[in-house]
Amino acid sequence: LLQLIRPLDRLGQLYRSIKQSLTDVEQMLELLNQPAEVADAPDAVPLPAGPGRLRFERVGFAYDPRRPVLRDVSFELPPGGTLAIVGPSGAGKSTIGRLLFRFYDPTSGRILFDGADISSVTQASLRAAIAVVPQDTVLFNDTILYNIAFGRPGASRAEVERAARLARIHDFVAGLPDGYDSLVGERGLKLSGGEKQRVAIARAILKRPRLFLFDEATSALDSHTELAIQQSLREVSRGTTTVVIAHRLSTVVHADEILVLEDGRAVERGTHAALLARDGAYAALWARQQADRDAAE
Ligand code: ADP
Ligand code: MG
Repeated sequence: LLQLIRPLDRLGQLYRSIKQSLTDVEQMLELLNQPAEVADAPDAVPLPAGPGRLRFERVGFAYDPRRPVLRDVSFELPPGGTLAIVGPSGAGKSTIGRLLFRFYDPTSGRILFDGADISSVTQASLRAAIAVVPQDTVLFNDTILYNIAFGRPGASRAEVERAARLARIHDFVAGLPDGYDSLVGERGLKLSGGEKQRVAIARAILKRPRLFLFDEATSALDSHTELAIQQSLREVSRGTTTVVIAHRLSTVVHADEILVLEDGRAVERGTHAALLARDGAYAALWARQQADRDAAE
């Protein structure tokens, strides 16, 4: 029996040490609130270099085959362009982001990034090219420096600080007793929603991605912080292809194209001005938010 127990015990130790090293990957997935569902194709190749052109071709998707979540969604985003996705809660906006980061594969249609079908490239190379700022940022139980530098392992301290300045979090961090070495998370400093969001933005900036994916700050942020964050996002994403999932329409005014999603379908698309003139779903959403804002003031 002992002969059996010893190897089992060793296996247990091995398991624990492997598990430890996997913690970061797990945390990263948790950070994005997603399971690891998709595997690389056996002949997967690294994403070829390119300027950041994104194309959704009649993309359909369902988490449960009995209930389609996206139907026939198409759009083309030129390099450096900004696409805003708006629509009611549950319309499928975040799902578009999850497909783009390839947490799931479309059930129909395809997604092309710089001409490559993303299901044929390695997930590592795809994810290296995209920086996500999620709706609710979860930070690692580590230092602020670590949390930002995670965007690009090997980044210098000066680069981290530069990203933090752009994300409007540097002054806050520099004012802490331990500065960039301050611990955050469960065993450290409790950052506010806005502060966490800005750490996530700094991380994204540092990554210098080919594409930014912002799932916008929630209404949990006060409007002053929200405005500051929206401004930072606009500045840092200038010249880089950007998909922004917008909960507040104030951000989408500047987008090159707005896609209005309802029940998984693109029901309208165009610029802010064109969609207002159309007086359809977008104009109704806009009017409702203006009314809510006026009521709040
Ligand atoms: P939005 O971001 O527009 O609010 P989502 O893309 O998050 O909407 O969700 C679209 C629909 O898919 C919703 O009905 C939601 O309940 C469902 N959904 C989202 N994630 C999952 C999941 N992991 N499993 C099953 N259904 C999901
Ligand atoms: Mg969402």
